[in-house]
Amino acid sequence: MAHDVTFIPGDGTGPELAEATRRILEATGVEFAWDRQEAGVDEYDKHGNPFPGVTLDSLKRTGVGIKGPTTTPVGSGFRSVNVLLRKELDLYACIRPCKAYEGVRTRFPETDIVIVRENTEDLYAGIEFEQGTEDNARLRSCLAQLGSEVREDAGISVKPISVFGSERIVRSAFDYARENDRHKVTAAHKANIMKFSDGLFLEVARRVAQDYPDIEFEDRIIDNLCNQLVSRPEEYDVIVLPNLYGDIVSDLGAGMIGGLGLAPGGNIGSDAAVFEATHGSAPKYKGLNRVNPTALMLSGVLMLRHLSEREAADRLEAAIAAVIKQGEKVTYDLKPTRDDPTAVGTSQFADAVIEEINS
Ligand code: NAD
Repeated sequence: MAHDVTFIPGDGTGPELAEATRRILEATGVEFAWDRQEAGVDEYDKHGNPFPGVTLDSLKRTGVGIKGPTTTPVGSGFRSVNVLLRKELDLYACIRPCKAYEGVRTRFPETDIVIVRENTEDLYAGIEFEQGTEDNARLRSCLAQLGSEVREDAGISVKPISVFGSERIVRSAFDYARENDRHKVTAAHKANIMKFSDGLFLEVARRVAQDYPDIEFEDRIIDNLCNQLVSRPEEYDVIVLPNLYGDIVSDLGAGMIGGLGLAPGGNIGSDAAVFEATHGSAPKYKGLNRVNPTALMLSGVLMLRHLSEREAADRLEAAIAAVIKQGEKVTYDLKPTRDDPTAVGTSQFADAVIEEINS
């Protein structure tokens, strides 16, 4: 039976990348009933809403979506589609595998890690008190009564980390490790300084780890983790982190495997999952058939695994890896120089993957 999947092309380079991804997914032989829905700046320009209710309803119905990137214009009061999606569907776990495929130029060819980032709490919870406002003054006065003085001219962001939020993200990391034949989970934190937020995260991680005796567990202080990732990446496997560190380490991981064009992702909740690249809409390349579709194609691989289509996922990943290794029919970012005239376009990269699947 065909899988019902919400297909969101997005904006900027999103539609080209999404189309390439749709084609390679169909080439695996797995059947999809795509429900195409819009989101992003083009939708905002047409109908005044970047994230229409029908798109959300579709995701609630199908429970699975694949999404091209969407632009968030700066300073317009425009709410990020990605933030809305994560909030509305409670997509609390962001899974970002960072694997260095053979043929990609990187100083870290041994990298094969999976970053599991908490998506809802921490300094990104949006609990902020602007400097100079009445609410800020009230909060500072409460803090002063509790013995913590904050300068009058300070802006304040609050960092909530809960037992509930920590437990479900750490379980996601261990479950992912089990299901994907991974052997170790590392929890990253700064518990030595932030004892009641990161300290709680670490304490919960240690407790949850006891339920997974088949998976090794360790923890690292976040600054030490960054140092070690770029000196001994082969020692790391699945890494689970609170929101802010997860965001930063995801980009570090993307850099280590050869760039944003190669880094896939999935945002997973209890009732829905949306798969998308780590990178943004790269609007300056819109409509040029130029950018690398690998990140979204590999997000498609993650989606296939999520749909229990493991054999098709492995075949597709192997085909993408083969095209990258051959290094011929790849986009400019995977060539020795960015102006290499032999670079192919987004759609021709997808053609090469399809040829490889069928060979
Ligand atoms: P970006 O990731 O869109 O692009 C930064 C640069 O990275 C590009 O100029 C390009 O050189 C390179 N790049 C990105 N994707 C590539 C690909 N597939 N192949 C080759 N090179 C690639 O980041 P940005 O310019 O900071 O953001 C543009 C917009 O995207 C912003 O509005 C931002 O809010 C949004 N954004 C969306 C998402 C999402 O939808 N999930 C994620 C991040 C950023």
